[in-house]
Amino acid sequence: MELHDDLILKSLGLQGIKIEYWATCDEELKLVLYARQNRNEAVCNVCANSITHVHEWKLRKIRAAPLGAYEEVWIYLKQLRGNCHICGDRVRSSKVAFTHPHFKNMTYSLCEKAGRLMEELLLRAINSLQY
Ligand SMILES: [Zn+2]
Repeated sequence: MELHDDLILKSLGLQGIKIEYWATCDEELKLVLYARQNRNEAVCNVCANSITHVHEWKLRKIRAAPLGAYEEVWIYLKQLRGNCHICGDRVRSSKVAFTHPHFKNMTYSLCEKAGRLMEELLLRAINSLQY
């Protein structure tokens, strides 16, 4: 893994994926990552057992937290779907550890940033009512 790929993954709180390539649009302050789940780390999203055979790679679009000058960050993730022996050989999606459980197309770090911003706005609103 190249140094800048590792830095991007760590900065965005992403694990278990490899960046295949990335592109930026400096006018729109946009960064788009094209990534794939690591085959050897893929586990069933129901029982967390290893996935044995690859059935398909499903493309998902996930919004990530801003990174430096890039205010809008998107990940096009190839998510592995394959057979799980524990789940009766059913085809299951591999678990994506960095997405929020309630907002599945957003990363944890994006949801945390949005939550902090909402608290800040709420406090400003309360303060403005007091004067
Ligand atoms: Zn399973």
